[in-house]
Amino acid sequence: MVECLLPKQNAVGSSPITRFLRHMKYYFCDELNNVLSCFHDRIMSCCSGQIGPVYYEAYRGQKIDWDKFREIKYKAFELLNEKDIENSPCKNCFFLRERKDTDVISSKFKLINVSHWTQCNCGCIYCARMLDSKGEISHKAQKSQYYDFLPLLKELYKQELLDRENLTAFIQGGDISVLKEFEPMVKEFLKQGVKDFYILSNNIKYQSVIKKLLDKNMVHYVTALDCANRELYYKLKRVDKFNETVKNLRRYARSKHKDKVHVKYIIIEHFNDNKKEITDFINLMCDIGISAVEFMIDNKYLLFTDLDKTPLPAHYKELYLHFEKLCKENNLNMVFWDKTRYVIEKYLLKET
Ligand code: SF4
Ligand code: SF4
Repeated sequence: MVECLLPKQNAVGSSPITRFLRHMKYYFCDELNNVLSCFHDRIMSCCSGQIGPVYYEAYRGQKIDWDKFREIKYKAFELLNEKDIENSPCKNCFFLRERKDTDVISSKFKLINVSHWTQCNCGCIYCARMLDSKGEISHKAQKSQYYDFLPLLKELYKQELLDRENLTAFIQGGDISVLKEFEPMVKEFLKQGVKDFYILSNNIKYQSVIKKLLDKNMVHYVTALDCANRELYYKLKRVDKFNETVKNLRRYARSKHKDKVHVKYIIIEHFNDNKKEITDFINLMCDIGISAVEFMIDNKYLLFTDLDKTPLPAHYKELYLHFEKLCKENNLNMVFWDKTRYVIEKYLLKET
């Protein structure tokens, strides 16, 4: 079922209200339309870093009023116009764009973002979840401290809220090996016909299920290494697991679709924000056989810095250009998160 509740931008007619609507600017957000994020503390629309519309606060497995749940998305869209945007949690979000007449609001989500646990087997200094995990490092697989995802997933399917034909299962956390539900979740998604996974993990533990999905070309596997040596890895992640991580990458790089493995370099001020480390990282990626690398700026830094008032460190532009040059020279695919691209274009590459 697909619905469109908003008036067309170019609606015809001559009544005062129609004339007003015709000239009003409407916005649209593809994340709001397509994404459902199941976080440890709430179920919400997006993972933009901004608190967008929330479907359920403090979710702990309670019974959900599904009519109310559905209504939240439509009400959020109703606020996306120049008159009401002040009252919208989406105000000022960089994902907003002008609405086109071809945009339709869908009753189904096309991407489910699963991130309902906070335990992790390392302790990155830039971790946004650290406040919730209290910095504890756990190595054993365990249940989420917040809720089980499987019953929620089954209910979402029952309520016809997930697009069966085109669903991407986006699973993100620290290391999925510390989540007991990881493999059962993958199995359930496969049973429901999902063909497209996007899995983010710190890669400390090798997962044969990921290798199998890579061989079948069903997963995009993403990890952040951020450096090229054991000492710096330890400083950044607070565990001595550099060698294991590199060994696991080499195993995934031997899969049939190794182009679907991509490795991030997250720039952390005063740690890895120098050209030498970037060069060593790119050389290591070439040696392992990784073909896609991501340049990212520490999201925690971006969340807590008003870039209109406090500019990014001046040398970040040089680092970005160096990264880009090395990718070109080595024929590596340079990928970006939408937010990084936005920040680079708006703040890093702007003329001074
Ligand atoms: S506009 Fe921004 S905050 Fe609102 S749903 Fe979209 S991505 Fe999330
Ligand atoms: S791997 Fe992810 S969840 Fe774990 S400490 Fe690092 S940033 Fe946090």
